[in-house]
Amino acid sequence: MSRTTDILVVGSGMAGLAAAIVARSQGKRVALLSRGCGSLNIGSGCVDVLGYIDGRAVAGNPLDALDALPPRHPYRLVGREGVETALGLLREVCARRDAPLNAAATGNRRVPTILGTLKPTWLTLPSFQAERLETAETVLVAGIRGLKDSHPALVTAQLRRYPHPARIRWHETHLENPMPGAHRNLSPLDIARLVETAEGAAWLISGLHKALRATPADLVLLPPVCGLCGTTWKGLAAAVPVPLVEMAALPPGVGGLRLYTALLEELRSLGVDMIENARAVAAECDGGSCRALVAETACGSRRFEARAFVMATGGFMGGGFQSSPGEAREAVFGLPVLQADGAPLPQRPEDWSDKDIFGSHAFASAGVMVNADMQPLRADGAPALNNVFFAGRSVGGYDFAAEKSGNGVAVATAWRAALSACAQC
Ligand SMILES: Cc1cc2nc3c(=O)[nH]c(=O)nc-3n(C[C@H](O)[C@H](O)[C@H](O)COP(=O)(O)OP(=O)(O)OC[C@H]3O[C@@H](n4cnc5c(N)ncnc54)[C@H](O)[C@@H]3O)c2cc1C
Repeated sequence: MSRTTDILVVGSGMAGLAAAIVARSQGKRVALLSRGCGSLNIGSGCVDVLGYIDGRAVAGNPLDALDALPPRHPYRLVGREGVETALGLLREVCARRDAPLNAAATGNRRVPTILGTLKPTWLTLPSFQAERLETAETVLVAGIRGLKDSHPALVTAQLRRYPHPARIRWHETHLENPMPGAHRNLSPLDIARLVETAEGAAWLISGLHKALRATPADLVLLPPVCGLCGTTWKGLAAAVPVPLVEMAALPPGVGGLRLYTALLEELRSLGVDMIENARAVAAECDGGSCRALVAETACGSRRFEARAFVMATGGFMGGGFQSSPGEAREAVFGLPVLQADGAPLPQRPEDWSDKDIFGSHAFASAGVMVNADMQPLRADGAPALNNVFFAGRSVGGYDFAAEKSGNGVAVATAWRAALSACAQC
Protein backbone atom coordinates (compact mmCIF):
# COMPACT_ATOMS: atom_id res chain seq x y z
CA MET A 1 0.00 0.00 0.00
CA SER A 2 1.19 3.51 -0.72
CA ARG A 3 0.11 7.00 0.39
CA THR A 4 0.98 10.30 -1.28
CA THR A 5 1.25 13.81 0.09
CA ASP A 6 3.07 17.07 -0.66
CA ILE A 7 5.35 17.06 2.36
CA LEU A 8 6.11 14.17 4.68
CA VAL A 9 7.55 15.26 8.03
CA VAL A 10 9.20 12.50 10.05
CA GLY A 11 9.40 12.86 13.85
CA SER A 12 7.10 14.46 16.38
CA GLY A 13 9.52 16.24 18.68
CA MET A 14 9.64 20.03 18.70
CA ALA A 15 11.27 20.12 15.25
CA GLY A 16 8.75 17.81 13.55
CA LEU A 17 5.70 19.48 15.09
CA ALA A 18 6.97 22.95 14.18
CA ALA A 19 7.89 21.92 10.62
CA ALA A 20 4.46 20.37 10.03
CA ILE A 21 2.69 23.52 11.27
CA VAL A 22 4.80 25.80 9.08
CA ALA A 23 4.38 23.63 5.97
CA ARG A 24 0.62 23.24 6.44
CA SER A 25 0.26 26.98 7.04
CA GLN A 26 1.75 27.45 3.56
CA GLY A 27 -1.21 25.54 2.12
CA LYS A 28 0.58 22.24 1.45
CA ARG A 29 -0.82 18.79 2.15
CA VAL A 30 1.25 17.56 5.07
CA ALA A 31 1.59 14.20 6.79
CA LEU A 32 3.49 13.75 10.05
CA LEU A 33 4.90 10.28 10.51
CA SER A 34 6.39 9.31 13.81
CA ARG A 35 7.57 6.33 15.79
CA GLY A 36 6.74 7.95 19.15
CA CYS A 37 6.99 11.22 21.02
CA GLY A 38 10.20 13.23 21.09
CA SER A 39 11.91 14.85 24.05
CA LEU A 40 9.60 17.90 24.03
CA ASN A 41 6.89 16.24 26.07
CA ILE A 42 9.21 15.05 28.83
CA GLY A 43 11.08 18.38 29.18
CA SER A 44 10.24 21.61 30.96
CA GLY A 45 8.64 23.21 27.92
CA CYS A 46 10.99 26.17 28.28
CA VAL A 47 12.32 27.27 24.92
CA ASP A 48 16.07 27.64 25.37
CA VAL A 49 17.49 29.82 22.61
CA LEU A 50 21.08 30.39 23.71
CA GLY A 51 22.21 30.25 27.33
CA TYR A 52 25.97 29.91 26.92
CA ILE A 53 28.66 30.42 24.31
CA ASP A 54 31.89 28.52 25.09
CA GLY A 55 30.77 28.14 28.69
CA ARG A 56 30.16 31.89 29.17
CA ALA A 57 26.62 32.96 30.04
CA VAL A 58 24.91 35.02 27.35
CA ALA A 59 23.98 38.45 28.70
CA GLY A 60 20.95 40.29 27.32
CA ASN A 61 18.79 39.17 24.43
CA PRO A 62 20.16 35.82 23.17
CA LEU A 63 19.20 36.74 19.59
CA ASP A 64 21.83 39.50 19.74
CA ALA A 65 24.48 36.86 20.49
CA LEU A 66 23.85 34.58 17.49
CA ASP A 67 26.50 36.22 15.31
CA ALA A 68 29.18 35.15 17.78
CA LEU A 69 28.50 31.48 16.99
CA PRO A 70 30.65 29.50 14.50
CA PRO A 71 29.61 29.82 10.82
CA ARG A 72 28.38 26.19 10.62
CA HIS A 73 26.11 26.57 13.64
CA PRO A 74 22.45 25.98 12.63
CA TYR A 75 21.48 29.45 13.88
CA ARG A 76 24.06 31.02 11.56
CA LEU A 77 22.66 29.00 8.65
CA VAL A 78 19.09 30.14 9.39
CA GLY A 79 20.15 33.72 10.15
CA ARG A 80 18.95 35.97 12.94
CA GLU A 81 15.90 37.21 11.04
CA GLY A 82 14.81 33.65 10.32
CA VAL A 83 15.32 32.59 13.94
CA GLU A 84 13.25 35.53 15.12
CA THR A 85 10.46 34.81 12.62
CA ALA A 86 10.37 31.13 13.56
CA LEU A 87 10.16 31.87 17.29
CA GLY A 88 7.50 34.50 16.58
CA LEU A 89 5.36 31.94 14.74
CA LEU A 90 5.73 29.47 17.60
CA ARG A 91 4.63 32.15 20.05
CA GLU A 92 1.57 32.98 17.92
CA VAL A 93 0.49 29.34 17.79
CA CYS A 94 1.06 28.75 21.49
CA ALA A 95 -0.78 31.94 22.48
CA ARG A 96 -3.78 30.78 20.40
CA ARG A 97 -3.72 27.44 22.19
CA ASP A 98 -3.67 28.86 25.73
CA ALA A 99 0.03 28.12 26.22
CA PRO A 100 1.56 31.60 25.81
CA LEU A 101 5.34 31.77 25.68
CA ASN A 102 6.87 34.95 27.04
CA ALA A 103 10.38 36.35 27.14
CA ALA A 104 11.77 38.31 30.08
CA ALA A 105 12.43 41.97 29.33
CA THR A 106 16.15 41.94 30.04
CA GLY A 107 17.50 38.67 28.65
CA ASN A 108 17.49 34.99 29.53
CA ARG A 109 15.25 34.09 32.40
CA ARG A 110 16.96 31.96 35.09
CA VAL A 111 14.38 29.37 36.03
CA PRO A 112 15.00 27.50 39.30
CA THR A 113 15.13 23.75 38.92
CA ILE A 114 13.94 21.10 41.32
CA LEU A 115 17.64 20.46 42.09
CA GLY A 116 18.20 24.08 43.10
CA THR A 117 20.16 25.15 40.03
CA LEU A 118 19.19 28.08 37.78
CA LYS A 119 18.52 27.19 34.15
CA PRO A 120 18.95 29.99 31.60
CA THR A 121 16.13 30.01 29.08
CA TRP A 122 14.40 32.50 26.77
CA LEU A 123 10.70 31.72 26.29
CA THR A 124 8.59 30.18 29.03
CA LEU A 125 5.01 29.45 29.94
CA PRO A 126 3.62 31.93 32.52
CA SER A 127 4.14 29.49 35.40
CA PHE A 128 7.94 29.68 34.95
CA GLN A 129 8.26 33.48 35.15
CA ALA A 130 11.19 33.33 37.54
CA GLU A 131 11.99 37.05 37.43
CA ARG A 132 9.22 37.40 40.00
CA LEU A 133 11.84 36.22 42.47
CA GLU A 134 13.64 39.53 41.98
CA THR A 135 10.95 41.44 43.84
CA ALA A 136 10.23 38.86 46.55
CA GLU A 137 11.59 39.16 50.06
CA THR A 138 10.37 35.85 51.48
CA VAL A 139 10.18 32.75 49.29
CA LEU A 140 8.53 29.52 50.36
CA VAL A 141 9.86 26.44 48.56
CA ALA A 142 7.16 23.78 48.62
CA GLY A 143 7.87 20.07 48.26
CA ILE A 144 5.28 17.32 48.15
CA ARG A 145 5.61 14.19 50.24
CA GLY A 146 5.84 11.11 48.06
CA LEU A 147 6.94 13.10 44.99
CA LYS A 148 10.22 11.93 43.50
CA ASP A 149 13.12 14.41 43.47
CA SER A 150 11.21 16.73 45.79
CA HIS A 151 13.67 18.08 48.37
CA PRO A 152 12.95 21.71 49.35
CA ALA A 153 15.96 21.80 51.71
CA LEU A 154 18.24 20.93 48.78
CA VAL A 155 16.62 23.65 46.66
CA THR A 156 17.05 26.36 49.27
CA ALA A 157 20.62 25.28 50.12
CA GLN A 158 21.57 25.43 46.45
CA LEU A 159 19.72 28.65 45.63
CA ARG A 160 21.42 30.42 48.54
CA ARG A 161 24.72 29.87 46.70
CA TYR A 162 23.62 32.00 43.74
CA PRO A 163 23.89 35.80 43.82
CA HIS A 164 20.21 36.48 44.53
CA PRO A 165 19.14 39.71 46.10
CA ALA A 166 20.54 39.42 49.63
CA ARG A 167 17.21 40.36 51.15
CA ILE A 168 15.50 37.09 50.07
CA ARG A 169 14.68 34.82 52.98
CA TRP A 170 14.18 31.20 51.90
CA HIS A 171 11.82 28.85 53.73
CA GLU A 172 10.76 25.28 53.12
CA THR A 173 7.54 23.36 53.48
CA HIS A 174 6.10 19.98 52.54
CA LEU A 175 2.56 19.46 51.30
CA GLU A 176 0.96 16.19 52.33
CA ASN A 177 1.09 13.22 49.95
CA PRO A 178 -2.12 13.47 47.89
CA MET A 179 -2.05 9.75 46.97
CA PRO A 180 -0.82 7.92 50.07
CA GLY A 181 -2.19 4.64 48.70
CA ALA A 182 0.14 4.69 45.66
CA HIS A 183 2.84 2.10 46.24
CA ARG A 184 5.49 4.03 44.36
CA ASN A 185 7.03 7.48 44.20
CA LEU A 186 4.78 10.02 42.52
CA SER A 187 5.93 11.96 39.47
CA PRO A 188 5.04 15.60 38.73
CA LEU A 189 2.80 14.23 35.98
CA ASP A 190 0.75 12.19 38.48
CA ILE A 191 0.07 15.33 40.48
CA ALA A 192 -0.52 17.54 37.44
CA ARG A 193 -3.19 15.05 36.35
CA LEU A 194 -4.67 14.97 39.85
CA VAL A 195 -5.07 18.76 40.05
CA GLU A 196 -7.07 18.65 36.82
CA THR A 197 -9.87 17.24 39.05
CA ALA A 198 -11.86 19.38 41.49
CA GLU A 199 -10.64 17.31 44.47
CA GLY A 200 -7.02 17.52 43.34
CA ALA A 201 -7.20 21.27 42.83
CA ALA A 202 -8.79 21.66 46.29
CA TRP A 203 -5.96 19.59 47.84
CA LEU A 204 -3.29 21.82 46.29
CA ILE A 205 -5.01 25.12 47.05
CA SER A 206 -5.80 24.23 50.65
CA GLY A 207 -2.28 22.82 51.16
CA LEU A 208 -0.71 26.05 49.92
CA HIS A 209 -3.06 28.21 52.03
CA LYS A 210 -2.17 26.19 55.12
CA ALA A 211 1.56 26.41 54.36
CA LEU A 212 1.34 30.18 53.84
CA ARG A 213 -0.53 30.63 57.11
CA ALA A 214 2.28 28.78 58.90
CA THR A 215 5.05 30.56 56.96
CA PRO A 216 3.91 33.79 55.31
CA ALA A 217 5.79 34.45 52.06
CA ASP A 218 5.69 36.74 49.02
CA LEU A 219 6.07 33.90 46.55
CA VAL A 220 5.84 30.10 46.41
CA LEU A 221 8.23 27.95 44.35
CA LEU A 222 6.86 24.49 43.66
CA PRO A 223 7.49 21.54 41.32
CA PRO A 224 5.70 21.66 37.94
CA VAL A 225 2.44 20.15 39.11
CA CYS A 226 -0.09 22.87 38.27
CA GLY A 227 -2.06 20.94 35.69
CA LEU A 228 -1.76 19.89 32.09
CA CYS A 229 -3.16 23.01 30.47
CA GLY A 230 -3.07 26.78 30.78
CA THR A 231 -6.61 27.01 32.14
CA THR A 232 -5.82 24.82 35.15
CA TRP A 233 -2.66 26.81 35.87
CA LYS A 234 -4.59 30.09 35.71
CA GLY A 235 -7.28 28.79 38.08
CA LEU A 236 -4.73 27.57 40.62
CA ALA A 237 -2.62 30.73 40.43
CA ALA A 238 -5.73 32.87 41.00
CA ALA A 239 -6.75 30.84 44.06
CA VAL A 240 -3.50 31.37 45.96
CA PRO A 241 -2.81 34.79 47.54
CA VAL A 242 0.84 35.07 46.38
CA PRO A 243 2.51 34.36 43.00
CA LEU A 244 3.25 30.72 42.23
CA VAL A 245 6.38 29.93 40.23
CA GLU A 246 7.03 26.39 39.01
CA MET A 247 10.52 24.89 39.06
CA ALA A 248 11.82 22.96 36.06
CA ALA A 249 11.92 19.25 36.91
CA LEU A 250 13.71 16.14 35.74
CA PRO A 251 11.55 14.21 33.25
CA PRO A 252 8.60 14.14 33.16
CA GLY A 253 8.77 17.92 33.27
CA VAL A 254 5.03 18.54 32.60
CA GLY A 255 5.62 21.99 31.03
CA GLY A 256 6.82 20.25 27.88
CA LEU A 257 3.66 18.19 27.77
CA ARG A 258 1.59 21.39 27.94
CA LEU A 259 3.47 22.73 24.93
CA TYR A 260 3.28 19.42 23.08
CA THR A 261 -0.49 19.31 23.61
CA ALA A 262 -0.87 22.87 22.33
CA LEU A 263 1.11 22.12 19.15
CA LEU A 264 -0.77 18.88 18.58
CA GLU A 265 -4.11 20.71 18.85
CA GLU A 266 -2.88 23.19 16.25
CA LEU A 267 -1.82 20.38 13.89
CA ARG A 268 -5.19 18.67 14.23
CA SER A 269 -7.07 21.90 13.57
CA LEU A 270 -4.94 22.52 10.49
CA GLY A 271 -5.79 19.05 9.17
CA VAL A 272 -2.32 17.53 9.19
CA ASP A 273 -2.48 13.79 8.59
CA MET A 274 -0.97 12.07 11.65
CA ILE A 275 0.66 8.67 11.17
CA GLU A 276 1.63 7.37 14.60
CA ASN A 277 3.62 4.33 15.73
CA ALA A 278 5.33 4.21 12.35
CA ARG A 279 9.10 3.93 11.98
CA ALA A 280 10.70 5.03 8.73
CA VAL A 281 13.25 2.37 7.89
CA ALA A 282 14.30 2.97 4.29
CA ALA A 283 14.23 5.55 1.52
CA GLU A 284 13.58 5.10 -2.19
CA CYS A 285 15.88 7.54 -3.93
CA ASP A 286 16.54 8.17 -7.56
CA GLY A 287 18.85 10.70 -9.26
CA GLY A 288 19.43 12.81 -6.12
CA SER A 289 15.75 12.92 -5.12
CA CYS A 290 13.70 10.88 -2.69
CA ARG A 291 10.43 9.41 -4.00
CA ALA A 292 9.15 7.62 -0.94
CA LEU A 293 9.94 6.42 2.55
CA VAL A 294 9.16 2.93 3.69
CA ALA A 295 7.91 2.65 7.25
CA GLU A 296 7.11 -0.19 9.60
CA THR A 297 3.65 0.38 11.00
CA ALA A 298 1.22 -1.60 13.13
CA CYS A 299 -0.31 -2.79 9.84
CA GLY A 300 2.98 -3.90 8.36
CA SER A 301 5.31 -2.22 5.90
CA ARG A 302 3.94 0.90 4.11
CA ARG A 303 5.27 3.28 1.43
CA PHE A 304 4.79 7.01 1.90
CA GLU A 305 5.32 9.07 -1.24
CA ALA A 306 5.84 12.81 -1.08
CA ARG A 307 7.24 15.62 -3.14
CA ALA A 308 9.50 16.72 -0.29
CA PHE A 309 10.57 15.30 3.09
CA VAL A 310 11.49 16.96 6.38
CA MET A 311 13.53 14.68 8.61
CA ALA A 312 13.14 15.67 12.26
CA THR A 313 14.17 12.34 13.73
CA GLY A 314 16.42 13.62 16.53
CA GLY A 315 19.92 12.42 17.36
CA PHE A 316 21.28 9.40 19.19
CA MET A 317 18.55 9.61 21.83
CA GLY A 318 15.64 10.37 19.52
CA GLY A 319 16.47 7.46 17.25
CA GLY A 320 17.63 9.56 14.29
CA PHE A 321 21.18 8.14 14.40
CA GLN A 322 22.47 4.60 14.53
CA SER A 323 25.95 3.88 15.77
CA SER A 324 28.36 1.00 15.56
CA PRO A 325 31.95 0.98 16.85
CA GLY A 326 33.79 3.83 15.16
CA GLU A 327 30.88 5.05 13.07
CA ALA A 328 27.50 6.74 13.28
CA ARG A 329 24.96 7.12 10.48
CA GLU A 330 21.64 8.85 10.05
CA ALA A 331 19.13 6.02 10.36
CA VAL A 332 16.90 6.35 7.25
CA PHE A 333 19.14 7.62 4.40
CA GLY A 334 22.40 6.29 5.85
CA LEU A 335 23.99 9.77 5.70
CA PRO A 336 27.23 10.22 7.65
CA VAL A 337 26.97 11.73 11.12
CA LEU A 338 29.93 14.09 11.42
CA GLN A 339 31.52 16.26 14.07
CA ALA A 340 30.82 19.98 14.24
CA ASP A 341 33.85 20.76 12.02
CA GLY A 342 32.78 18.19 9.40
CA ALA A 343 35.33 15.57 10.49
CA PRO A 344 34.26 11.94 11.03
CA LEU A 345 33.71 10.78 14.60
CA PRO A 346 36.82 9.18 16.16
CA GLN A 347 37.38 5.48 15.53
CA ARG A 348 37.38 4.63 19.23
CA PRO A 349 33.87 5.13 20.72
CA GLU A 350 35.48 6.15 24.06
CA ASP A 351 36.84 9.24 22.25
CA TRP A 352 33.32 10.36 21.35
CA SER A 353 33.02 11.87 24.82
CA ASP A 354 35.32 13.92 27.03
CA LYS A 355 36.46 12.68 30.44
CA ASP A 356 35.19 15.95 31.94
CA ILE A 357 31.41 15.77 32.03
CA PHE A 358 31.26 19.52 31.34
CA GLY A 359 33.89 19.21 28.60
CA SER A 360 33.41 19.21 24.86
CA HIS A 361 31.87 15.92 23.70
CA ALA A 362 32.22 14.97 20.04
CA PHE A 363 28.94 13.02 20.06
CA ALA A 364 26.98 15.96 21.47
CA SER A 365 27.43 18.23 18.46
CA ALA A 366 27.69 15.50 15.81
CA GLY A 367 24.98 15.35 13.19
CA VAL A 368 24.05 15.61 9.55
CA MET A 369 25.85 18.46 7.79
CA VAL A 370 23.39 20.76 6.02
CA ASN A 371 23.39 23.93 3.94
CA ALA A 372 21.31 27.07 4.56
CA ASP A 373 18.26 25.35 3.00
CA MET A 374 18.73 22.45 5.45
CA GLN A 375 19.59 20.03 2.63
CA PRO A 376 22.05 17.31 3.65
CA LEU A 377 25.49 17.75 2.12
CA ARG A 378 27.88 15.42 0.37
CA ALA A 379 31.58 15.53 1.24
CA ASP A 380 32.16 17.95 -1.68
CA GLY A 381 29.61 20.41 -0.24
CA ALA A 382 26.88 19.77 -2.84
CA PRO A 383 23.39 18.71 -1.68
CA ALA A 384 23.16 14.93 -1.28
CA LEU A 385 19.40 15.00 -1.96
CA ASN A 386 17.34 17.80 -3.51
CA ASN A 387 14.00 17.29 -1.80
CA VAL A 388 15.08 16.15 1.68
CA PHE A 389 15.60 18.66 4.50
CA PHE A 390 16.80 18.10 8.05
CA ALA A 391 15.68 19.88 11.21
CA GLY A 392 16.28 19.79 14.95
CA ARG A 393 18.75 17.60 16.78
CA SER A 394 19.58 15.57 13.68
CA VAL A 395 21.40 18.63 12.31
CA GLY A 396 25.08 18.80 13.29
CA GLY A 397 27.16 21.71 14.51
CA TYR A 398 25.75 22.55 17.92
CA ASP A 399 25.60 21.06 21.41
CA PHE A 400 22.17 21.85 22.78
CA ALA A 401 22.98 20.71 26.30
CA ALA A 402 26.11 22.83 26.70
CA GLU A 403 24.65 25.86 24.92
CA LYS A 404 21.10 25.57 26.23
CA SER A 405 19.68 25.95 22.73
CA GLY A 406 17.61 22.77 22.22
CA ASN A 407 14.10 23.90 21.42
CA GLY A 408 15.31 27.15 19.88
CA VAL A 409 17.42 25.37 17.25
CA ALA A 410 14.62 22.85 16.71
CA VAL A 411 12.10 25.60 15.93
CA ALA A 412 14.45 27.69 13.78
CA THR A 413 15.72 24.80 11.64
CA ALA A 414 12.19 23.37 11.34
CA TRP A 415 10.92 26.69 9.98
CA ARG A 416 13.70 26.86 7.41
CA ALA A 417 13.41 23.17 6.43
CA ALA A 418 9.62 23.46 6.04
CA LEU A 419 9.87 26.53 3.80
CA SER A 420 12.58 24.85 1.71
CA ALA A 421 10.35 21.77 1.38
CA CYS A 422 7.39 23.96 0.36
CA ALA A 423 9.53 25.52 -2.36
CA GLN A 424 9.84 22.03 -3.94
CA CYS A 425 6.08 21.53 -4.24
C1 LIG B 1 15.24 15.30 29.09
C2 LIG B 1 15.38 16.47 28.17
C3 LIG B 1 14.97 17.72 28.59
C4 LIG B 1 15.11 18.82 27.75
N1 LIG B 1 14.70 20.03 28.18
C5 LIG B 1 14.78 21.09 27.35
C6 LIG B 1 14.31 22.37 27.75
O1 LIG B 1 13.83 22.56 28.86
N2 LIG B 1 14.40 23.39 26.87
C7 LIG B 1 14.94 23.23 25.62
O2 LIG B 1 14.98 24.19 24.86
N3 LIG B 1 15.41 22.04 25.22
C8 LIG B 1 15.34 20.97 26.05
N4 LIG B 1 15.80 19.75 25.65
C9 LIG B 1 16.36 19.62 24.31
C10 LIG B 1 15.26 19.55 23.30
O3 LIG B 1 14.21 18.72 23.76
C11 LIG B 1 15.78 18.98 22.01
O4 LIG B 1 16.94 19.62 21.63
C12 LIG B 1 14.80 19.21 20.93
O5 LIG B 1 13.53 18.88 21.39
C13 LIG B 1 15.14 18.36 19.73
O6 LIG B 1 13.93 18.04 19.12
P1 LIG B 1 13.84 17.14 17.83
O7 LIG B 1 12.45 17.25 17.38
O8 LIG B 1 14.94 17.48 16.91
O9 LIG B 1 14.20 15.64 18.33
P2 LIG B 1 13.45 14.65 19.31
O10 LIG B 1 12.73 15.39 20.37
O11 LIG B 1 14.48 13.67 19.73
O12 LIG B 1 12.34 13.92 18.41
C14 LIG B 1 12.69 12.94 17.47
C15 LIG B 1 11.40 12.38 16.89
O13 LIG B 1 11.70 11.56 15.78
C16 LIG B 1 11.03 10.31 15.92
N5 LIG B 1 11.81 9.33 15.15
C17 LIG B 1 13.12 9.02 15.25
N6 LIG B 1 13.47 8.13 14.30
C18 LIG B 1 12.34 7.87 13.59
C19 LIG B 1 12.05 7.01 12.49
N7 LIG B 1 13.00 6.27 11.91
N8 LIG B 1 10.77 6.98 12.00
C20 LIG B 1 9.79 7.74 12.56
N9 LIG B 1 10.02 8.56 13.63
C21 LIG B 1 11.28 8.62 14.11
C22 LIG B 1 11.00 10.07 17.42
O14 LIG B 1 10.01 9.11 17.76
C23 LIG B 1 10.62 11.49 17.86
O15 LIG B 1 9.25 11.72 17.70
C24 LIG B 1 15.69 18.65 26.48
C25 LIG B 1 16.11 17.38 26.05
C26 LIG B 1 15.97 16.31 26.90
C27 LIG B 1 16.44 14.97 26.42
